[in-house]
Amino acid sequence: MEKDCVFCEIIRGVRPADFLYQDDSLVIFKDIHPHAPIHWLVVPRRHIRSINDLSDQDGDIISQMILKAKEVAKDHAIAESGYKLLFNVERGGGQFIFHLHLHLLGGW
Ligand code: 5GP
Ligand code: ZN
Repeated sequence: MEKDCVFCEIIRGVRPADFLYQDDSLVIFKDIHPHAPIHWLVVPRRHIRSINDLSDQDGDIISQMILKAKEVAKDHAIAESGYKLLFNVERGGGQFIFHLHLHLLGGW
């Protein structure tokens, strides 16, 4: 947990969010400013700043994030129509919240 991190606060339950899924490793909640009919954020519970900060030991969490995104897309019937999975990396890559997250956008 990192002080002053918005997503750590959401994970701790001190900031509200609309959760779709939670387990021991990750959570999924709705983006507060959706850029698509469905815009969810897949977020590891552990505070990792960005893709740049991943180590060779972090393969598991990245695969869990992608596989869970695939699963919730199917469960919410947006898999067939198609969706985007997106990591913004650091400021130049459009990252504003420096706690790793995977955008799931779809429902068009
Ligand atoms: P980034 O640009 O860092 O990849 O994406 C951060 C995303 O987090 C943005 O799409 C933004 O709308 C979303 N966001 C920022 N603050 C909050 C918040 O307090 N709650 C929720 N649910 N989403 C947030
Ligand atoms: Zn954090």
